[in-house]
Amino acid sequence: MIVDEDKCLHCGGCVGSCPANAIFLNDFVLEFNNRCTRCGRCVKLCPVHALSMEGKK
Ligand code: SF4
Ligand code: SF4
Repeated sequence: MIVDEDKCLHCGGCVGSCPANAIFLNDFVLEFNNRCTRCGRCVKLCPVHALSMEGKK
């Protein structure tokens, strides 16, 4: 997962949206663990389109 830090509001919305609990908000830095299934839910949910997937547009 790629986070555009210039866009991210650290709202935490993506953290709650992840069905795999793969996203963590750590002192205003988003972290992803290897439980990510690349479902794309967080990418669609982010209100400012700050998330993208490596290898996908
Ligand atoms: S939903 Fe978007 S703006 Fe909110 S914390 Fe996640 S990446 Fe940042
Ligand atoms: S792509 Fe899906 S599994 Fe991966 S971090 Fe986003 S919501 Fe979680």
